[in-house]
Amino acid sequence: MHPPEGDPTHPRTPPPRHRPHESALTPGDSARYDVRFASRAAGIVSSVMRDLMSLSERPDIISLAGGFPNTESFAREMFDEVIEVVARDHLASALQYGPTEGLLEMRERIVEIMGGDGARVGVDDVMVTTGGQQAIDLSIRTFVNPGDTILAEGPTYPGAVPCFTTYEARVEHIPMDGDGLRTDLVEEALSRLAAEGRTPKLLYTIPNFHNPAGVTMSLERREHLIRLAHDRELLIVEDNPYGQIRFEGEPLPSLWELDDGAGWVIHLSTFSKILSPGLRVGWVAAPASVLRKMNLGKQAADLCTSTMSQRFIIEYMRRYDWRDYVQRLNGIYRSRRDAMLRALEEEMPPEAVWTRPEGGLFVWATLPAYLDTTHLLASASEKHAVGFVPGRGAFLDGRGGDSMRLNFSGVPEAVISEGVRRLGVAVSEMTELHRALGGLT
Ligand code: PMP
Repeated sequence: MHPPEGDPTHPRTPPPRHRPHESALTPGDSARYDVRFASRAAGIVSSVMRDLMSLSERPDIISLAGGFPNTESFAREMFDEVIEVVARDHLASALQYGPTEGLLEMRERIVEIMGGDGARVGVDDVMVTTGGQQAIDLSIRTFVNPGDTILAEGPTYPGAVPCFTTYEARVEHIPMDGDGLRTDLVEEALSRLAAEGRTPKLLYTIPNFHNPAGVTMSLERREHLIRLAHDRELLIVEDNPYGQIRFEGEPLPSLWELDDGAGWVIHLSTFSKILSPGLRVGWVAAPASVLRKMNLGKQAADLCTSTMSQRFIIEYMRRYDWRDYVQRLNGIYRSRRDAMLRALEEEMPPEAVWTRPEGGLFVWATLPAYLDTTHLLASASEKHAVGFVPGRGAFLDGRGGDSMRLNFSGVPEAVISEGVRRLGVAVSEMTELHRALGGLT
């Protein structure tokens, strides 16, 4: 208990005095570190999304850049109740280290979630991770040596780019269309690479409501991909943070489910989109020998995922049906998506195209090729106070310059409309400039 304010028997310890830190180092001194950086640190590329986080902190700006789920609709009473139970019944263990693979009850809940979608999975097939992000990092670090080839959609998840560059992967992008990953082109790439003596270590894919592309892999493509995995021995890392965030259409079986225990799929997911990204709890389902290696990697990275967060989720799921909350979120996202699609229709030039996602958090828009969205972002954010993720951040080969990712989950409808209106103004200014310079015939 805190002593009461002003109690003379408990003199308050004065707060420590902080001096502003003045570094004695000059910019030139950074050379001492430059010569020491490991090649994987020297070559690492920041995720554009992270760089753009600062945009969302500017109060005047409308940020369509973040991938923020809506966390405002989580009821305070629910939070209070769950925290109260954790404090009453599990305080010591919630404050303690836990097993690297995660608390057993946590893994049981994960098995329920995956099983509810029709997947065959047991508690020993699952490891709890610190967000889905760690599951991506562990997948790549477990399989990729410097210079190894991996396949990924083009565009790919901008947040996976630092994982690919850290472990010095050579990424071959495979195009998508409205039905998701072009699996015919995966087949083609496998043959071309084989002729060059290169065998991809794995394919990283986001089949549901792709980040950033917004599209979903059709059932036919999923089946084709699994056939390819089996016939060509292609290991698939299926990243599925958005599977539950569907506001239209029928759910499709996961690649994990279609693989049916053959061991060619590693499945990643997270509580970030169905509950809260602040809790930092995700998971990986994988064959036993892969999970053992990933477990060692996780021991090195952080020993275990926050037991406090795991306990919060266990007690939350025990008391409430998590699907009710997700359904409420999906209703909100659906209206926000509609607002964004309406605004794009009104504000974008006729040559622009964009995806119409049935779930997830993002629309991917492609502008006329003469517009560069990295330049556009500079003027859009400085002059018109609106932000987005420029497409280049989703490719490792310099492509994506004409595209952008727009988030609709984190911003109310009226703000989305205003944000897209501002974006439209920025786009037409750039188009005018291009015309004035004689670029258009
Ligand atoms: N994968 C994808 C495709 C994502 O979009 C995200 C979140 N933006 C993640 C993984 C990581 O999410 P988290 O670490 O919050 O679980």
